Amino acid sequence: MSIPYPWLEPYRQSIATTINQGRLPHALLLTGQPGMGKAGFADFLAQMLLCEQPQQDASPCGRCPACTLFKAGSHPDFHYVSFEINEKTGKLRDSIVVDQIRELARTLSLMSHSGGHKVAVISPANAMNINAANSLLKTLEEPSDNTVLVLVSDQPGHLPATLRSRCQRFQLGVQDRAPVLEWLAAQLDTPVPEVYLQLAGNAPLEALRLARLDALESRQKHFAELVDILDGRAAPLAVALAWSKDEDLQAVRWLRDWLMDLLRIRMTGQRGGVPGQDIIEGLEALAGRLDCKVMFEQLDRINRLLHMAGSSLNRQLMMEDILLAWADQG
Ligand SMILES: [Zn+2]
Repeated sequence: MSIPYPWLEPYRQSIATTINQGRLPHALLLTGQPGMGKAGFADFLAQMLLCEQPQQDASPCGRCPACTLFKAGSHPDFHYVSFEINEKTGKLRDSIVVDQIRELARTLSLMSHSGGHKVAVISPANAMNINAANSLLKTLEEPSDNTVLVLVSDQPGHLPATLRSRCQRFQLGVQDRAPVLEWLAAQLDTPVPEVYLQLAGNAPLEALRLARLDALESRQKHFAELVDILDGRAAPLAVALAWSKDEDLQAVRWLRDWLMDLLRIRMTGQRGGVPGQDIIEGLEALAGRLDCKVMFEQLDRINRLLHMAGSSLNRQLMMEDILLAWADQG
């Protein structure tokens, strides 16, 4: 079996070397922004460790009983810890709680079923609450034999430093764009413009999502709507209503990126390096018109909107606030 995402091959090689040299750490921390393939990589890594007939380069064979069990989601030495349903409320919890980590520690203290590695993936690791993180720390301080813990997080800064320091960290990123563009083209059966990768901050799975949505066109349309609001050709409340109907709030995510681009242009006076090259002329024209203080206030509002779990009415009201403040700058 080869690694599912070609851009992660250098990390696979480096982990394979530590496996072959018998110095794999007890805990690994996989970090990197969303869309980098961390979850797929954690699975592949687990399968590398569990496979009974690994290839010479330490990749899993994909055919042995262990690989078959793993693919069926029933390998007894693999444990996956994530959000669980709260039995009292029937709803998905928004954190990983201490009971889950205690149960994991108990399971890992037992003999492995196959006589080989025991592997646990905790994802997203930053969702552990403080008690859960402390409990995991104890497990890491007294690791049982042949146990490998894989922590996955796009916000490693939210993990306690004591926990981070006990893990070997792999910060996943794209080192070379060419194989990523080839991979994207193969997924969609057509070449994918590089601008998608730029817009996704070089995160390939996010680039794929945007390309699937044909997002370039809608992005340019949303940008034109903002200019229209400033010039008095569009009503902010009507645009706010339309934008808040999208569950993903993609238009607001674009607006957040544009505000950052605008601030960068304003502060450095340079347009190079700004990811939004598809609308760079429009951005430059806007950069001179907007007030930096208001732009920072807008970013604040947008971040609150993106992180709140409110009703759709609340979302719409916040969107109205943002676009009314935007219109005020016209
Ligand atoms: Zn195998």
